[in-house]
Amino acid sequence: AFQADVVPQAPEDPLFGLMAAFRRDTDPKKVDLGIGAYRDDNAKPWVLPVVKMADDRLRNDPNLNHEYLPIAGLADFTAASQKLILGGDSPAIKEKRVTSLQTISGTGAVHLGALFLAKFYKLNTKRTVYFSNPTWPNHFQIFSNVGLPNQTYPYFSKETRGLDFEGMINTLQNADEGSIIVLHACAHNPTGVDPTQEQWKKIAEVVRAKKHFPFFDTAYQGFASGDLARDGWAIRYFLEQDFEMCIAQSYAKNFGLYGERAGCFHFVTSPSPDAQSTVTRVASQLSILQRSEISNPPAYGARIASLVLNDPKLFAQWEEDLRTMSGRIIEMRKALRGKLEELGTPGTWNHITDQIGMFSFTGLSETQVMKLREDSHVYMTKNGRISMAGLNTHNIDYFAKAVDKAVR
Ligand code: PMP
Repeated sequence: AFQADVVPQAPEDPLFGLMAAFRRDTDPKKVDLGIGAYRDDNAKPWVLPVVKMADDRLRNDPNLNHEYLPIAGLADFTAASQKLILGGDSPAIKEKRVTSLQTISGTGAVHLGALFLAKFYKLNTKRTVYFSNPTWPNHFQIFSNVGLPNQTYPYFSKETRGLDFEGMINTLQNADEGSIIVLHACAHNPTGVDPTQEQWKKIAEVVRAKKHFPFFDTAYQGFASGDLARDGWAIRYFLEQDFEMCIAQSYAKNFGLYGERAGCFHFVTSPSPDAQSTVTRVASQLSILQRSEISNPPAYGARIASLVLNDPKLFAQWEEDLRTMSGRIIEMRKALRGKLEELGTPGTWNHITDQIGMFSFTGLSETQVMKLREDSHVYMTKNGRISMAGLNTHNIDYFAKAVDKAVR
């Protein structure tokens, strides 16, 4: 019989443990560079002005109720989500080669895709999933939980603090044909390092030659560069090349809807006379998986995003809000690099401005990270990743000096 007393203690989630340690610290100078959520220049959570507008409209809607959504979620939301990530004039949409389900944010989208592949992926018998090294740690847990084995491809070069492109390509070339390749669409977490467009083309070439299956994780569209099309470029390029693929889309960061859990999963099939029938069958299976996991997704965040995505005025305001967030982060990158160079801090710091998005892989060692925590009350993950959003005009001097002290 099952006895719960045999259950071993699991380790604490490192990120949430870090948050708890930060909260316990009573020093007024403490700096939180751990968790990946946007903060304004006063280190406060920021409700996007467009989200406030949509929220007001929703609250004043006399017809709003709390009924269940359909299994696949709010149709206006999933249709608009397709257009946003695939492009409004995408042939995949016109040719009905896409099926989309609203999910529990990006995590739920990755999970639904993983579960679907675990059940139906037959391109090779090993079904190995390849992640970048490093990647968002939850990728390992999500894909392991559904029983798919994983490996990693080289990604971050410690020497250049940029992309290890050769290592990545070699590993993809040597992987078993028909492996599943998880790719971060933009603003790679945790490194902030993205391939260039030329490098993406080469990646697509290898994925095609080896009949690999691309699985895009997109959690930062618009948040990285401030430009939705630019941040969606890699996915749209793969689409133009007629790949079959999965896409996990999150609205946590780009709408600031973290706790509302708004996200979307898309399955796109390649052009073929059978495409529509394939998508219909895939949709029917996804619907059963979704039903057994969550029955139907949460309504509120999707309603907000849907209002914005489907209203040109609100959409324009959203684009402005995206520029506000990405712009502030890019400013902080410039300022941090500038201050470290001014202080003559040992090492090179161009990677701070070369990297993009919420995170920067600083290259600080675990010892230096712990020193920063103990001496200066600065909190970041042990791998030296900082959330750029935790920096602001009030603490950036303090942080640069603390880094300078820690690396000397
Ligand atoms: N994928 C990546 C790469 C991420 O960085 C995140 C956010 N940390 C997610 C997926 C999903 O986050 P959420 O479930 O909050 O949308």
